[in-house]
Amino acid sequence: MTYTSVFDIFKIGIGPSSSHTMGPMIAANRFAAELAEKGARNPKLRITLLGSLAYTGRGHASDKAAVWGLCGLSPESFDHLTAEGIWRDISESGRGAHPGIGPFEIDLGSGVVLDTIAKPRWHPNTLTFEAFGEDGALTLSRSYVSIGGGSVVAEEEGPDFRDDRAPGERDDVPFAFENSKQLLDICAASGISISDVMLENETSLRRNGNIAEGLDRICEEMLSCISRGASKTGVLPGGLQVRSRAQALFRALELNPSAPFNAQDRLLAYALAVNEENARGARVVTAPTNGAAGVVPAVLRYWLDEAPTDQHPLRRSFLLTAAAIGAIIKRNASVSGADLGCQAEVGSAAAMAAAGYAAVCGGTPKQVENAAEIALEHHLGLACDPVMGLVQVPCIERNGLGAIKAVAAARLALSGDGDHIVPLDACIEAMRNIGNDMHERYKETSQGGLALFVTGC
Ligand code: SF4
Repeated sequence: MTYTSVFDIFKIGIGPSSSHTMGPMIAANRFAAELAEKGARNPKLRITLLGSLAYTGRGHASDKAAVWGLCGLSPESFDHLTAEGIWRDISESGRGAHPGIGPFEIDLGSGVVLDTIAKPRWHPNTLTFEAFGEDGALTLSRSYVSIGGGSVVAEEEGPDFRDDRAPGERDDVPFAFENSKQLLDICAASGISISDVMLENETSLRRNGNIAEGLDRICEEMLSCISRGASKTGVLPGGLQVRSRAQALFRALELNPSAPFNAQDRLLAYALAVNEENARGARVVTAPTNGAAGVVPAVLRYWLDEAPTDQHPLRRSFLLTAAAIGAIIKRNASVSGADLGCQAEVGSAAAMAAAGYAAVCGGTPKQVENAAEIALEHHLGLACDPVMGLVQVPCIERNGLGAIKAVAAARLALSGDGDHIVPLDACIEAMRNIGNDMHERYKETSQGGLALFVTGC
């Protein structure tokens, strides 16, 4: 039995991708820390990106993220201006610096390789770091796998790492669970809600930590990301010439708040605002990934708009419930588009948002599980085919549609008594099977689907 904390599901990070931007940065930090421990001085470094990271690495800024990680930059404290300055300096001098290692050499041409020929051993998001001494001899080589949502494992752990314990998982909690049946059994036996199960677990993990404060920070980050996105206009970076649309949607809502389709338009505006920020490489909350970061905030903000103020503290229950569903999907399938297609990213986000919304609307644990299942079921089979390797088309709109589906799924579940044909666990199993059967061209390689037929400008 295991448990994944809400704070491992919702992480504050940077766009455009948790697996392709944050993951490489985190892996690079790990490699640099090991190198520093070994006392390396003036090493020459090389990075090789494989699989999906190689195919879409430029569009997702994986190459830059890995180099920035070697310089000690991390997603939590990332500052774009500083980072771009570092990139410029390294381009000119071929030298960077890490706080623990000191100066190092890296050639941004031959030393940062996007290798689409070599096959990753067991996961499409694999990258290798190598360090060479002054005599040219290899002193350290490490390969890492970015499994989604900003989680990274050493490649040597192998594909069965889930059979043991995935990153962030704990078993020293009162209510550990691995699937939704176990979670529902806990709720039935103890007579408490899914969010209370999560809260009991969080309390046992953070004996001195302030859980409410941590959850409120996540909520505030989500809401301020929506506000920042709504304040910006213009063309998104990357060369596809995608115009940001969130602000226009907000203006239309302000001008005519009682227009038909107000609910859908609000969900679209909120989700687009977040995902446009993500496309700018700005700060977002990984939920459960960055490509799918707009769904949960959109549905949360939509609920906050309508709920009386005295119910707003329930936002914490929303996040705890959503995280429980995200953890179950992550453990039993994946939340990575490179692993199982977009069904695993936007589908998972919609399931999480539907569960959170159903919970704060008074749903029973069975209705909450039903809401998550409906939302995930109707994303099954969705491919990941980002045009030009950018997290823009179809990603930005897809989050808006995912948010709409999440609310619809929750409404449908709340209209029933929680009994339903397809258990969430079966739906997750189906998603895993469908994803495993998908050709790799539909799994974040930009080699198929929309990416093949829309080549951009
Ligand atoms: S298509 Fe979906 S899974 Fe792929 S990058 Fe976009 S949001 Fe992520």
